[in-house]
Amino acid sequence: MVSTLPVSLEDIRAAARRIAGRVTTTPMVQSASLGELAGVPVHLKLEHHQTTGSFKLRGATNAVLSLSPAQRLRGVVAASTGNHGRALAYAAKAEGAVATICMSRLVPENKVSEIRRLGADVRIVGVSQDEAQQEVDRLVREEGLVMVPPFDHPDVVAGQGTLGLEIIDDLPEAASVLVPLSGGGLAAGVAAAVKAISPTTKVIGLTMEKGAAMKASLDAGQPVQVEEVASLADSLGGGIGLDNRVTFAMCRELLDDVILLTETEIAAGMRHVYACERQVVEGAGAVGIAALLAGKIRGSGPIVAILSGANVDMGQHLRVINGTQPLYGEEGP
Ligand SMILES: *Cc1c(COP(=O)(O)O)cnc(C)c1O
Repeated sequence: MVSTLPVSLEDIRAAARRIAGRVTTTPMVQSASLGELAGVPVHLKLEHHQTTGSFKLRGATNAVLSLSPAQRLRGVVAASTGNHGRALAYAAKAEGAVATICMSRLVPENKVSEIRRLGADVRIVGVSQDEAQQEVDRLVREEGLVMVPPFDHPDVVAGQGTLGLEIIDDLPEAASVLVPLSGGGLAAGVAAAVKAISPTTKVIGLTMEKGAAMKASLDAGQPVQVEEVASLADSLGGGIGLDNRVTFAMCRELLDDVILLTETEIAAGMRHVYACERQVVEGAGAVGIAALLAGKIRGSGPIVAILSGANVDMGQHLRVINGTQPLYGEEGP
């Protein structure tokens, strides 16, 4: 079953060898507070400690290292809601290549300035991921840059899959792995690795209630567009692409379930991980903890929750912790 998919366990193992030494092997720790709450052991994969603050460095590094010398010379380009742009800027610079990053005006300022600081050429275009993508297409067409998409590419998915390898190597008896889900690059890669090694381990996607394109697409049986809405989990925004080639099929085949979280639940996840684990985690990275706190994860353990990123605006983080952050489309906490 797994071998018919666009990314195999062998691709992921090759990616792990390629990016070794260039990305951080992040720690996994057991959470006493969440274990008590869930009644089964809960482990947290601290991927928000990854260089550049998210797992996106794995896929970006694998993609840049897979370029031909001629492609590397022309430079890479991507549309990004932030973390992919950061990662690609870093990965390109590490290999002596130029990265051009296109993003919409919805992206928080802290992420924009960070990408500029990493040496990328940032272009702000439009109010949606799709409009930013149109600028990418133009740069590919007219200036010959090489696109490295945030999720829908075999090299990117294989890179993200190395996170799944680390998890299942550390904890082969994991009963379920909770994966933040947007375009599905992380979920597809992690599920491909985990299920190839441990077919009985469940891989569950987690995303926000409103504007979840992969969930809507899985329900519809084909990629569909959804309206983009602001969320505490801003890294989970954006579409999956109506011409999705890799991640939709893999998520449909490999994910056991997709669970939706409200803004209030995501805020509670961010607060809990800060108060009980002393970790600063962005909204997208806190959805696994949010689901556990909300009682939305059932079944046996051990459970692994991936904390996928740390790149939250610090003012917003403070307001979430204080309970003063207005929550989009909901009453205050
Ligand atoms: C990109 C991102 C996700 C979602 O990853 P996909 O591959 O798009 O599903 C989750 N968390 C963080 C922090 C991210 O940056």
